[in-house]
Amino acid sequence: MTDLTDAVLALGTELGFDRVGVAPAEPTPRTEFLRSWVARGYAGEMKYLVRRLPERVDPRRVLEGARSIVAVSLVYDSGVEDAPGEGARGAVARYARGDDYHEVLQERLRAYETGLQVLAGRPIRCKSYVDTGPVQEKAYAAIAGLGWIGKNTCLIDPELGSLLFLGVVITDLALRASSAEPDHCGTCRACLDACPTRAFPEPYVLDATRCLSYATIEQRGAIPEAMREAQGNRVFGCDACQEVCPWNTRPKRRVPPDPRRLRERLAPLAEWRAPALEWLLSLDQESWREATRRTAMRRPGLRELLRNALVAAGNSGDPSLIPALRRRADGDDPLLADHAAWALTRLRAASRASAAGRSPSVTSSS
Ligand code: SF4
Repeated sequence: MTDLTDAVLALGTELGFDRVGVAPAEPTPRTEFLRSWVARGYAGEMKYLVRRLPERVDPRRVLEGARSIVAVSLVYDSGVEDAPGEGARGAVARYARGDDYHEVLQERLRAYETGLQVLAGRPIRCKSYVDTGPVQEKAYAAIAGLGWIGKNTCLIDPELGSLLFLGVVITDLALRASSAEPDHCGTCRACLDACPTRAFPEPYVLDATRCLSYATIEQRGAIPEAMREAQGNRVFGCDACQEVCPWNTRPKRRVPPDPRRLRERLAPLAEWRAPALEWLLSLDQESWREATRRTAMRRPGLRELLRNALVAAGNSGDPSLIPALRRRADGDDPLLADHAAWALTRLRAASRASAAGRSPSVTSSS
């Protein structure tokens, strides 16, 4: 006979999620980790993490009477290759190339909330989140058995890998907790070694202030000069620590069927698979608003996206970008002018080095 928990799990799968599990709505063992991580300054400018720390560590402060957290995951890697194209191109983190996952998953989680009411047969209390509230989705997904938190600090599903969106429904329904997945990282340290900016002071700990995802998305102001060369062609986020993880690269990694078209709706948009740097550098408010209309790429704002594209242009070795860089260097925004000057210096050094048959070594602006 199917009990309520089984019915809740089955409903999550019916709604199109790839994995569903249940965690008790209690403070997680990661509570102390989170406190010490913030205290060590690793959260950088992400003050919102600190502001709502009491709720973040206890879901019963988010939903009074909370008993259970239903955690869901959805694979976002559709296996679509970057679009080939002429000229220097920027790299966008895989999760951000399609429609905004917050909206797509949140809509489906609202349907989940409605379905839970029907299954319970009485009014219940629910709140759902997709990176949208003071909830540690990843910590509860791990407790709910959706995977383990790897040395790269991502949740890794042993069948699906770590290219996953996560969401939760907090509810006052009493449900049976799922079993947790053990840690399978073992002696592997591929992610730690692959990080371009050495952002992991130790396994399982990310110093966000040294992470290129943080620098290109969350951080306002200048990209630290020491990180610019390592940024390469990235203009939004970084997937380095996930791309080398054997749980993402092994041939048997499963990409589940998509009967409810959730993944299809999140498929990469042509302009964000590998955007031309020249196009990025030409964006103004209106064209940026139009290009980012349905995506999660608005978080950093146009100014920060241009800043990132200037660094990527400096690293491109492509002298055809020099006119676009000059325009930004002569502009009236000092932040962009500084990054454009750095990029011009680097591109010119690359041209000289290429003429002399060696690699460039310039990393500072002038
Ligand atoms: Fe764990 Fe290796 Fe994956 Fe890093 S790359 S998260 S150490 S399995």
